[in-house]
Amino acid sequence: MTVLDLRSDTVTRPTEAMRAAMARAEVGDDVYGEDPTVRALEERVAALFGHEAALFTPTGSMANVLAVGLVVAPGQEVLCEARAHIARAELGAHAAVSGITMRTWSHPRGQVDLAALDDLFAPDLGPFFVPTAAISVENTHNFAGGAVLPLADLQALRAFAAERGAAVHLDGARIWNAHVATGTPLAAYGACADVLAVCLSKGLGAPVGSLVVGPADLVAEARIRRKRLGGGMRQVGILAAAGLHALDHHVDRLADDHDHARLLADACGADPAGVATNIVTFDRPDAVAFVEKARAEGLLIGAVGPRTVRLVTHLDVTRADAEAAAKVLARL
Ligand SMILES: *Cc1c(COP(=O)(O)O)cnc(C)c1O
Repeated sequence: MTVLDLRSDTVTRPTEAMRAAMARAEVGDDVYGEDPTVRALEERVAALFGHEAALFTPTGSMANVLAVGLVVAPGQEVLCEARAHIARAELGAHAAVSGITMRTWSHPRGQVDLAALDDLFAPDLGPFFVPTAAISVENTHNFAGGAVLPLADLQALRAFAAERGAAVHLDGARIWNAHVATGTPLAAYGACADVLAVCLSKGLGAPVGSLVVGPADLVAEARIRRKRLGGGMRQVGILAAAGLHALDHHVDRLADDHDHARLLADACGADPAGVATNIVTFDRPDAVAFVEKARAEGLLIGAVGPRTVRLVTHLDVTRADAEAAAKVLARL
């Protein structure tokens, strides 16, 4: 039985062309700052987002821990949406590693809610309340079904935070999908955040790699903290080369993933117009059993809650794969 894997866009395997680019990468010891391919990737990504500097990290979770930790000190808090990756899917790292607490607002599509933020925001009132140091947003929002945060909302958030002396952290693991879906320049997203974390190993199809993006002084501090966490990597240009290749070849094609996601949503009885990017979530009272039924048909999908099923399209899903999956889902 052929198996189609729609559990996540992290399951992609490097293409032959990507492997060739990795094989010919020029490398050096990056802990000494001597890997030219890593430097090229860091400079390129910083420039794409209109920031001064960037730092290559092994995972998006490490990029988020570093990025949030740059703008929130131990004993301070970050505000985020209730289903944010930093709150749900990083195993408490921001508390366990950085001593940071979180409070959340809830939005069915993971959106910014300035009225809720106005209620939540805690200025530094002396030794009584945890002061809010930053607000974190996720674009696209993973557990809100790949929802895009409109640029105008991010700009309003940036102004709201600036008025209160707080920083904005953008978890841009899938910012590329938001960029392709809306045509918004990456630099416009970059201008809405003090620090960003972006991933190369989701829709872009690199095997490994994320970056922290921000001002030079903060990124220099992140470099020290990355080493402290055990994330100083040596001839890692081999992996950075995969990222550079992905930026050259795998950004525009994300539009195909978005088309495939709409096709799958339609087959599941969800509204394709509600699918903004490459993630389809829909509610089933029997989500876990549904996932098992799909597995028996050679379709790997995931449950992201007791009643929520998630499908993710990616580089290794062809049009024909999506059509075959749609048939199975419609039948189930
Ligand atoms: C995948 C993801 C990350 C990072 O995950 P890693 O598996 O640690 O690379 C961060 N934020 C969001 C929204 C994600 O989907």
